[in-house]
Amino acid sequence: MNIDTKLVHAGEPVPRYGGAVAFPIFQSSTFEGQGGVGYHDIQYARLSNTPTHDALHAKLAALENGEAALVTSSGMSAITTALLTVLSAGDHLLAHNILYGGTFDFISKDFSRLGLAYDFIDTTNRSGWEEKIRPNTKAIYVESLTNPLLDVADHRAVVQFAREHNLVSLIDNTFASPINFRPLELGYDLSLHSATKYLNGHTDLVAGAAIGSRDLIERVRIKLNHFGGSLDPHACFLLHRGVKTLGLRVRRQNESALQVARFLEKHRAVRRVLYPGLETHPQHGRAKELFSGFGGMLSIELAGGGNAAVQFLERASLAIKAPSLGGVETLISRPAAMSHAGLTEEERAKSGISEALVRISIGIEDPQDIIADFDSALR
Ligand code: PLP
Repeated sequence: MNIDTKLVHAGEPVPRYGGAVAFPIFQSSTFEGQGGVGYHDIQYARLSNTPTHDALHAKLAALENGEAALVTSSGMSAITTALLTVLSAGDHLLAHNILYGGTFDFISKDFSRLGLAYDFIDTTNRSGWEEKIRPNTKAIYVESLTNPLLDVADHRAVVQFAREHNLVSLIDNTFASPINFRPLELGYDLSLHSATKYLNGHTDLVAGAAIGSRDLIERVRIKLNHFGGSLDPHACFLLHRGVKTLGLRVRRQNESALQVARFLEKHRAVRRVLYPGLETHPQHGRAKELFSGFGGMLSIELAGGGNAAVQFLERASLAIKAPSLGGVETLISRPAAMSHAGLTEEERAKSGISEALVRISIGIEDPQDIIADFDSALR
């Protein structure tokens, strides 16, 4: 099946429960049974094995051609649980040097307390990676498109490097979504999502997901069972409903983002536009080769500096000033004040996240209305 057909039909039970066309919510914490199976197989909502979970897992696995999937209570829950599944005290991680703020914070602030070591590398360019490898390096962690600078890692080289050094390769595929990139097809071991974003798409829940081999997902599930970050059945239902329109939403967002990026790159109030679909983007060729679409996220740096960026946020009226991304509404935020506020000023400067940077998540509104709003705010 094509991905659009899978979005609608994959994971749906045969026969349907009571003939229900929309998958019902099994809002039950526990299920009747005699036990006698292992602890992790008791049917209990925290163990992510209700019928509501099972159907959603099967659908998400199908989208990225994984053997299995697991939903979690947030994207951060998927990320932290996955990292703590593949790493044990004494292990070392290599990670891309610019990551979603929460992930960066977790690695840089919590790892040492847990006896874990890490090094940040520039995964856009395979040089200097070998020098960072240690005998205890166990995993490599990247994002499909980095947040908020929209860099594209050399994904083929990351997968190759992971194989050469026997590392588990993990990727946060939130920004690309399975419509634009399916990392397991390239050879990544584990694809992670903040399902809060594109997968759900309606800005009305917080959830995460992990997709990979049956064996690896089961290991992550067992950790999640202990940490307790399972997704409530009602949120599973909403996510299952939201994901069905992923293809329609993301393709529209791909098209609109490119139109908006082309408009902004010509605007004299804008110093630079970071969007992988533009020929001026440093990894445009790579993005074109790896991705089916360039995504709905772009960042701009205003010529007038931090103050101009603050004013732009104030004056835009259609675009909503809010963190998060991937929903049907266009959202704008200043990473220095929001997603990356947890970094020190020095860390932000080193990463290229300036005060003048504005991150834009393009929604599904008419692109001409988005452009008109940005034009008037920039004026
Ligand atoms: N990964 C990326 C790329 C994100 O942008 C975010 C949140 O903004 C997360 C992970 C964390 O997801 P959540 O907020 O669902 O925990």
